[in-house]
Amino acid sequence: MPQVDPHDTADIALHGITVRYGKAREPVTAVENVSLTAAPGEFVVLVGPSGCGKTTLLRIAAGFVTAAEGTATVRGGAPVPGRATGVVFQQPRLFPWRTAGGNIGFALARHGVPRERRAERTEELLARVGLAGMAGRRTWELSGGQQQRVAIARALAGEPRVLLMDEPFAALDALTRERLQEEVRTLAVTSGTTVLFVTHSAEEAVLLGSRVLVMAANPGRIVAELEVGLERGEETDVAALRGTPAFSRLRGELAAVMREAALTPSG
Ligand code: ADP
Ligand code: MG
Repeated sequence: MPQVDPHDTADIALHGITVRYGKAREPVTAVENVSLTAAPGEFVVLVGPSGCGKTTLLRIAAGFVTAAEGTATVRGGAPVPGRATGVVFQQPRLFPWRTAGGNIGFALARHGVPRERRAERTEELLARVGLAGMAGRRTWELSGGQQQRVAIARALAGEPRVLLMDEPFAALDALTRERLQEEVRTLAVTSGTTVLFVTHSAEEAVLLGSRVLVMAANPGRIVAELEVGLERGEETDVAALRGTPAFSRLRGELAAVMREAALTPSG
């Protein structure tokens, strides 16, 4: 291998990852020989048809599963669940018996934030996701979108430099989804967080990602890559971006690549 490799400086580096599920006789090869990197501050999106291994790759980066072959590093070390990485799933998975603030306080405690500072940190985190003053709300008093906001705030509790998000907006209504997309994009840009984000929406991928990796299934693998190159400043009007010709063109391009990838024969 060459001396200087993007894998060495990346926040997330997967190298030759193969994951198999199931036991001896008929193992399912979920992903085969996948390599990817996300540089510090980069927003990398994984797209592809259902079953192509998107969640599996996120699980690898989160340290929830180990690969049969290959190596995974996050900020230079082996991924450790719950340590330095924030994870957001499709369903918010909050503790239903805790309040919004209680869910976040629990995460803060796990990250070693002393009790006397938790209330203030909880308020700050809720404010960052547009839920200022909602700490006392019970989870059943929150809409789906608000619950997902709490889940994002919880993922930010440990001030992660790396955020892994698995179709976090898939279960939300269109309007809530658009607002959260805009907020997450702004949050990522302003905080410089490295994000690996999974979706099957071309629109979402192009809006959020600085780079999009397109996967095909059977076995799961990366078949194409698209640099997005839309404006990514702190002042960018993310909502307005959707109306630009550059955005429409990229979305169309990606959709075409995704259709082709979905038809790619098994490799
Ligand atoms: P995606 O998130 O792209 O839909 P997944 O990573 O969830 O894909 O799954 C990739 C493949 O691995 C699929 O064929 C799926 O059925 C299989 N798979 C995922 N999780 C498991 C598991 N726990 N046990 C067995 N097979 C699994
Ligand atoms: Mg999945």
